[in-house]
Formats: sequence, C-alpha cells, structure tokens
Amino acid sequence: ILADDMGLGKTAQVCSFLHALRKMCGAPGPHLVVCPVSTAGGWARELGRWCPLLRVVRYRGAQRCQLQRIVAGVFVVSPATLLQDKAFFLKRVWQVCIFDEAHALRGRTSAISELTPRIDAAFRVAVTGTPISVSPVEVWNIMRFLYPAFGRKLAAPSSGDASQEEHSQTAAILRSVMIRRTKESLELGLPPRIDHPPTLIEMDAEQLALYRAALAGAVADESTEGMSNVLMNLRRVCGHPWMFRIHGNRSANDAALTARERLRVARVPFEESVIVGSSAKMCHLDRLLLAKKQGGHRVLIFSNFTAQLDLIEAMCELRGHSFGRLDGNSLRAERELLMAKFNHAASRIFCLLVSTTAGGVGITLTGADTVVLYDSHFNPQMDRQAADRAHRLGQRRSVEVYRLCVANTIDERIVRMSTFRAGIGDRIVDGATSEASVQQQVIQDIRADARSSAVDQAALADGVEKLARLSARVPSAFEGTTAASSTCQVASACFGCGRADGHRLSCPGCNKWYHATCAEGRTSANAARWRCQRHKCCECGVAAQHEDVVFMCVQCPNSYCYDCLEEDYVSMEGSENGIDFPHLRSSYADMAVDGVPVRRNVFFLTCPQCGGAGQASESESESMHDSESGVDDSD
Ligand SMILES: [Zn+2]
Ligand SMILES: [Zn+2]
Ligand SMILES: [Zn+2]
Ligand SMILES: [Zn+2]
Repeated sequence: ILADDMGLGKTAQVCSFLHALRKMCGAPGPHLVVCPVSTAGGWARELGRWCPLLRVVRYRGAQRCQLQRIVAGVFVVSPATLLQDKAFFLKRVWQVCIFDEAHALRGRTSAISELTPRIDAAFRVAVTGTPISVSPVEVWNIMRFLYPAFGRKLAAPSSGDASQEEHSQTAAILRSVMIRRTKESLELGLPPRIDHPPTLIEMDAEQLALYRAALAGAVADESTEGMSNVLMNLRRVCGHPWMFRIHGNRSANDAALTARERLRVARVPFEESVIVGSSAKMCHLDRLLLAKKQGGHRVLIFSNFTAQLDLIEAMCELRGHSFGRLDGNSLRAERELLMAKFNHAASRIFCLLVSTTAGGVGITLTGADTVVLYDSHFNPQMDRQAADRAHRLGQRRSVEVYRLCVANTIDERIVRMSTFRAGIGDRIVDGATSEASVQQQVIQDIRADARSSAVDQAALADGVEKLARLSARVPSAFEGTTAASSTCQVASACFGCGRADGHRLSCPGCNKWYHATCAEGRTSANAARWRCQRHKCCECGVAAQHEDVVFMCVQCPNSYCYDCLEEDYVSMEGSENGIDFPHLRSSYADMAVDGVPVRRNVFFLTCPQCGGAGQASESESESMHDSESGVDDSD
C-alpha cells in the first residue's frame, strides 16, 4: 500500500517502478491501472512522461473493444469500465495491477471490491492519498486485493464495532504492508508552512446577545438531537448571524441558483453593514484580505457552510476581489477548469472560496500562498487536508495558514479540542471515532457554559427574539429565470443537413431544428422523450447526466463529454482577464434566437471537424504514436 501524503508524487513513483521493470527486467507489461475517471488523464500524462518505453492505452470510449488486441503496455481504466468489461480484464494475465484511490474498496460488498481480488496479476499495488483508518473491514478489503490467496482463507471480520484487540492487530498488519511518508518526514525542499496560532476574535455586544440566546437552547433541550442543533446554531452565530436567514429560506433548486440569487431569495440586504458589519469574523477576514491583496498574495478561504461561502462571495463582490468557488455543487469539469485557471502563473483570481468538505480527489491549489480556515471542522484531519491543498509539491512560496476563531465560544472549544487530538493522535487515525469524540467533548463544554453563564433575562429574551426574526421565512422576492419556451420559435435551418426546406421539428433540449430524417435516434415511440445527438458524447456515446458538463459544437451536432474532449480545448492563453480558455465559451452568437439560456453545464466550442482546436494535434498524436511503437520495436 502506497499511502504517502497528498502531493508527494505517488503517481510518479509507480510510473518509475514500471519503467524500471521495463528497463532492467525487460518487462513489457501488460500492466493495469485502475483509477477514478478524474485522475485517468493525469495517470496517462505521467505514464507517458516517466515510462517512455511503454505504450499507454486509455481504455475507454465506444471503440474500446478494439484496444483489447494490444498485448503489451499500460492499460488505464476506470472502475466502472472495468466492471463493464470484466470478462476481458479477468481473462488476461497482468504483470502489475495498480489500484488508485484504494480507499474506494472500503465498502464490504461493493461490486468492485468483489472483482479486484479475481484479477490475475503477478504484483499488486494499492495507492491511496487519504489515511486508511484502522477499520478491520476496510483493511480486510484492501488485503484481499493485495493478497487474493491469503484473502480467500481469511474470514471476513465481523461487522459492527471492532474490539480493541482487533484494532491493534489491524494496525500491526498495516504497518507491515504500508508505506506512508509525510511531507514533514521528507526533505523535499518544499517551502515552509507557517501555521499561525488561532486568531482570537471578539464579538460585539449584538452578536454576543445572539450567541447567548442560542446557548440558552442547550439548557432547554439536552437530548442528543437537540444538542446537535444547538451546536449548529452556535457555529452559525459565530460565523455570520445572517446564515440563519439563508438556512431558513432554502429552496429545492438552491444548487441551481447563484450565491447572489440565494441571498436575494432570503432577502439578505446586499450592504456592507450587513454582509461584513454584522459578523466579527467577517470584519477580520475583510481586513486580512485587503492586507493580503496589497502584499500580492493569493488566498484560499475554507468554510464548512455553504451559506457562509455565499456571504463571503458577496463580500468579495462588494470589495471588487476577483474570486472563484469550489463547493459540493461544483461539477467535475467546472472544478478542474477552475483549478487549472487558478494555478496558472498568470492567473488574476485573487481568492478561491472552498467548502472544507468538498473533498474531491486530487484537488491541488498551489496558486495560493495563504490559507484561511474560516471555521473549524470537528475532524482535525479535514482542516489539515484543506491546508494541504496549497502546501504541496509545485508550491514555490511559503504558505501561511490562518485559523479564525471567536474567543470564548464553541469556535475556540473546537479548535482547542481538535488541535489537541491532532497532536496526540497517531498518523493512522480512525477518522470517525476522533470526530465523534471531539464533538462529544465540545458538547460537554457547551453544556457547562450554558449552565454557568448568568445573563439578565431581559437581554436574553431580546436575543431570542432577534434570533427568531433572523431565522424567519420571508416571502420570496425572486422569480427564477425560466428557460425561454421553444414553442414560439420560428423554425430555423436543419442543424443536421443545413437545408431550410421541408417540415422540421425542434429538439426540446437545445432548441435546434431537424428534419425527421436528420433527427438521429428519433422514432414515433420515443418522440416525446427524444433529444438530439448533441446530448450525448459523439466519442463514447454516453448521454449527459445532469451533473455532467457537455461541450457542444456550435456548427454541427457533435458534442463531447469532458473525458473525450481533446486536450487542446482546455489549453490556456493570456487575455485581458489574465488567463483563459480561448477555445471554450459559455455562450454563442445566436443563443437568443435559439431561446436557450446560459447554463453552467454546457460549454460551446468549434469541433475539430468544423475547423476547431483539435485539428493540429490529431496528426501530431498520430506521429507520436508511430515513434512510440517504433521505440518498442527497436528496443
Ligand atoms: Zn436535415
Ligand atoms: Zn438537442
Ligand atoms: Zn465521451
Ligand atoms: Zn462541429
């Protein structure tokens, strides 16, 4: 198990291992790399770079069965495709089988953890960037992949809570098969990371009154559920009292709205006195950002709350800071494009707002040299990983980490508890247990606080009333933008053949018109559900789900999923905005005519067949391919 810290180059290490096998032992493969779709491109690139003697095969797409003829080299495949074509992968004998993000195997009975032990390989490597918890079930699953013969004899550990003895046995097994190096333990020439002690911030009288009102809830209701509500309320008061309003006015289509629209729905005044002035932490953050901007720094701001990120976003707008945002709602392609843009040397994005829990695999944000943890997570690992996004290989400047914390509140309790735990904890920690124990301790502290705090009743009643007003549901002030309906549209030329005669019908998905004969895949039976071919990838044939981004050609019905997009389309160029993707647009000239709105999950481009960016590289990659196999032959 290769479990080095994120950013230490696990991929490069595995690649150089394969290269060494080829160079010293003449091992030509085939090798198998199983990895999430999101890292497949990275694997292919690194393999091409570090294993020049091995052919890299990205096993995907509609034509992938033809790739099965290739006998040597490295196959890169996603778990889903592995399952789909398992007959092929189980039949072949592999020299080395690598499973990236092996913690995905942790589920006891997932199809993939049943399949991987049956793969025939001489050598197996499990790669994981997140610490493996000492959970017997999780370790058992990884051991079954690594040592299938051994795994067959070994009984599955009982479910439920493991005993102390099972825990120590599991830890012993891990120590014997796992390599885990941390950044601290290696001399990498990584610039230093400066963890500032928590910044203690004092609330003003008004915010303090709200805090006391929320704290009174701990006396009123001591049930577990009641207490977790109280904790949540206290954290909201500390972060920003108007979070109550946003939370109380959430709607079903929240994710589809912009932060600005969500604030409008909740009737949060877009004024400095509210957005910044009503929270002591926001005032502090405001000053910190101004200072950092003057110093030419770039900042990551982490929070556990979406509503908090909305308010910080509003502050950035008020102050004219350029910003980007990564949260649980970010689509994969969106996330990767933003990441590339932010990390580019010419980027002009000043700060990036990130939700602490939007884990995501392989997020690197070395474009920033300042990290602000706006609030703390009960699990200290989460905060650590957040700061690690910026402090990893590729970082050239020293990284400063600030942790904001309201004095004498739940904020300070969490910070004290979690830094204490992180200090004593082993590097391998059981995440769930430590998170729960931090929370348990904080609950005890809060109960004690609640009992001992003597407040005068009038002030308390006032605070409770203000809190209720903040949480109130408000009449909706916002009419959502509705997509223009296609019924009133004038039929335009057929998007399939370009002719403007004859009867045409429009695709309800993109409002393009087609002759019945040009409407691919449309039958009388599916006419109501029919979408034109732009809604599935022309390379792999996969239809776009709502969480996928599609890249549509503006001139022809070709469209691409993110995985099948030629790399040229995501190359960047300098522009007046700093840096941008010149081949991708979120709108096109006739959008109003077609009556389609700008949507975050649709990008437009000119496809290679219509003379777009991919063309030049097509012949290039062919010739590269030739020389590649040439090396194979001559060697
Ligand atoms: Zn036509
Ligand atoms: Zn369509
Ligand atoms: Zn595709
Ligand atoms: Zn095209």
